[in-house]
Amino acid sequence: MKIGFIGLGIMGKPMAKNLLKAGYELVVTTHKQATIDEMVAAGAKGVANGKEVASQCEVVITMLPNSLNVKDAVLGPNGVLEGAKPGSVLIDMSSIDPVETRKIGAAIAEKGMEMIDAPVSGGEPKAIDGTLSVMCGGKKELFDEFEPLLKQMASSVVYVGPLGAGNVAKLANQIVVACNIAAVAEALTFAKKAGTDPELVYKAIRGGLAGSTVMDAKAPMMLSGNFKPGFRIELHIKDLTNALNAAHSISSPVPLTGQVMEMMQFLKAYGHQKEDHSSLLKFYEKVADVSVEPEK
Ligand code: NAD
Repeated sequence: MKIGFIGLGIMGKPMAKNLLKAGYELVVTTHKQATIDEMVAAGAKGVANGKEVASQCEVVITMLPNSLNVKDAVLGPNGVLEGAKPGSVLIDMSSIDPVETRKIGAAIAEKGMEMIDAPVSGGEPKAIDGTLSVMCGGKKELFDEFEPLLKQMASSVVYVGPLGAGNVAKLANQIVVACNIAAVAEALTFAKKAGTDPELVYKAIRGGLAGSTVMDAKAPMMLSGNFKPGFRIELHIKDLTNALNAAHSISSPVPLTGQVMEMMQFLKAYGHQKEDHSSLLKFYEKVADVSVEPEK
């Protein structure tokens, strides 16, 4: 099966490489020519835009930052829809607003194209290892058809419900991750200001109920002052914006999410938006006037 892949950033590039390794023929495009060249060297075919991708493939995967990028790549000039054949399938693996997912699905359905939303969690290391978690929305029979393809990039692939349900699950994931990182940063800052060694506090609590995948991924980054992304603050702001909009539209209050969103806005105001979301620590360091990171 020939697969199209659009968007070869932090996540898309390793995911596409895993499909190549699994033996799929790939036609790819992204904004950065150097990345297209790298993928061509790895065995993919590189083309200029989504229209060319779709004209050569029955299945097109998108892995783009946000709703507007997906709309642009699919519905915009030289986009997927201009080149797509009736009966072809769009698998959008980006994390976007579920309301926009359904709008894109309706627009492409008019031209006989079908859609699955299949956002992921796990970050760059799991994208490289092919052990992402994928949460899917769309027709169940379409999901069944493409589950084996998704499993080449993931260790967990779960069907959640109709189109948009994958992105609802992803927003739930992002709410939990944001609040969890903030809690870890709050606790380590408190530990430092209380005169203890935050590294030893982390070691002491990580095996108990407070321990979590988030704590083990992010506390070591905070303690070593390493905020290289990973997952950028600006992308998490995008997800929390989508979460707040989606939650408010159905009167489902999300007070903790609102608080962490404001911390992220504070970090953006200080120019930290390109850093990993573990830099939430810097919010606490500033407001508590203490340094948890090692002296530079
Ligand atoms: P990224 O910014 O690194 O990559 C996106 C790529 O898409 C860029 O290379 C950009 O040039 C390209 N692009 C944008 N518009 C395009 C267009 N119209 N046509 C072709 N290429 C285009 O982002 P990422 O970190 O890979 O994230 C992608 C998605 O995955 C986002 O929705 C993000 O929220 C989600 N996600 C990211 C992570 C993570 O840890 N980075 C984890 C889980 C989910």
